[in-house]
Amino acid sequence: MRSKKDIQDIYNILGELYPNAYCELIHESAFQLTIAVMLSAQTTDAAVNKCTSVLFSKYDDVYKMNNASEEEIYDIIKRLGLAKTKAHNIKLLCAKLIAEFDGNVPNDFDALVTLPGVGRKSANVILSCWFKVPAFPVDTHVERTCKRLRIASKDDTVLAVEKRVCKALMPEQYYYMHHRLIFFGRYMCKAQKPECDKCPLTKYCTLIKSK
Ligand code: SF4
Repeated sequence: MRSKKDIQDIYNILGELYPNAYCELIHESAFQLTIAVMLSAQTTDAAVNKCTSVLFSKYDDVYKMNNASEEEIYDIIKRLGLAKTKAHNIKLLCAKLIAEFDGNVPNDFDALVTLPGVGRKSANVILSCWFKVPAFPVDTHVERTCKRLRIASKDDTVLAVEKRVCKALMPEQYYYMHHRLIFFGRYMCKAQKPECDKCPLTKYCTLIKSK
């Protein structure tokens, strides 16, 4: 496994590669981010943004969304995977936020994971990206790149990946590492056909060494 120093070096190299990595899910509130993150399961941020540009133009807050029917929501998001489940969860989420949280998205991990459609990764995205609470969400790009770079072991669960990175970095670095790894996984270290000829991290890469 990588030393803390190696992980800090990887963090810095990724910072040079993607100095402005950011959350690509378009949102203007904690509520909109929560919906966008829920919708992003098994699809791309670009596809989510297309749907949310319509969804949020009609229902931009929890009360308006709560007044929409499940069918109306489904009709807008139907091009996304798992659309029926997602539309159902959006309705349940709105009802719960209004009934139990005064219409607000809670700034608390334990409360967030009680919301329909919100798991550990989504809760960490909401905390990190909206509330600026140190948290390290592990999505498919983060998991893959951490394993290729041997920041994590190939058999690690997503929780184990999260713990390894959090142990190696300072809390104020989590937000940046998360977005840098997503950009790296999305635009260079892709699942299929990674662009290894351009990669500044080849010396850390297990994939290159195993070739
Ligand atoms: S060398 Fe290729 S596979 Fe390895 S980390 Fe870089 S882009 Fe990914």
